[in-house]
Amino acid sequence: MTPENTKEIQSLKEEVKKIKQTSKKKEDSLKDKIKKLQSKVRESTSYKKLIVASARSSYDPQMVVDSLKFVANAIHSKNWKLVDRTVGISGNLMTRGICPVCSINLVGKEPKPRDWTLPCHIKKCPFGDT
Ligand SMILES: [Zn+2]
Repeated sequence: MTPENTKEIQSLKEEVKKIKQTSKKKEDSLKDKIKKLQSKVRESTSYKKLIVASARSSYDPQMVVDSLKFVANAIHSKNWKLVDRTVGISGNLMTRGICPVCSINLVGKEPKPRDWTLPCHIKKCPFGDT
């Protein structure tokens, strides 16, 4: 190998290194954009579900308006678990919280489980055996 060849190879290696760095930056930037878009899609889909659930609801209109505010707030704060419990496939628009221990849905102004869901028999559940 001539010194010239060695020099050229070295130069090519550096070029490849630069290209790799640039494409890694682009890849990271695209991954970040995808993440942000997925979050936006989830947000929009949740608002759509909220509208459909509210329109189909047979609850008292004032209760539906309260739910709209409550769920919109949950969407805004990206509390997806709570959003799912309210407007998800088997969600309930009146859900106002989730028990941190047994994950049961909570309802009402001072959120607690519905009577028919009690007792849940799960140890340490604050709503369990009363
Ligand atoms: Zn519980």
